[in-house]
Amino acid sequence: MATKEDVDFDSKPIDDNVLTDEKNYPVTGEEDGLKVRAGGMQRLDNSNKPYPTKLGIHGTTVAVDWDGCIADGSCMDVCPVSLFEWKLNPGNSGTGNDKKVEKGTPEYDQYRTDKTNPVRESECIFCMACVTACPVTAIKVTSA
Ligand code: SF4
Repeated sequence: MATKEDVDFDSKPIDDNVLTDEKNYPVTGEEDGLKVRAGGMQRLDNSNKPYPTKLGIHGTTVAVDWDGCIADGSCMDVCPVSLFEWKLNPGNSGTGNDKKVEKGTPEYDQYRTDKTNPVRESECIFCMACVTACPVTAIKVTSA
């Protein structure tokens, strides 16, 4: 589990327009069965500095800004339908169960921290518990 102070970026809340602003958030691919928006694109953090990663936004119904995610894990702890898994520790979820990413490794350069992956986003019941729990507001949930 990381905190805001542990990471070398100033996490910015996920953009409310992430699903509609196709200029800044085009669909750039798919990963783990989820759409990825703005993958590979340089984006700015809350201090207007470039994020060190270019991972983009993963998921649609449950969209997680992976460049802002700090691997806090509280989204996983509160989700009543357990739809999240750790990207780098698949099959596992919850605070403290993220894979520790060591500085100076290629994995650190790519991810900085583990990332919460909404792998079963179709099971969302729109309770909004994860949105409230996330300490950096990296999740946007949109009901159809
Ligand atoms: S809104 Fe509720 S059900 Fe949907 S991902 Fe968040 S915590 Fe889980």
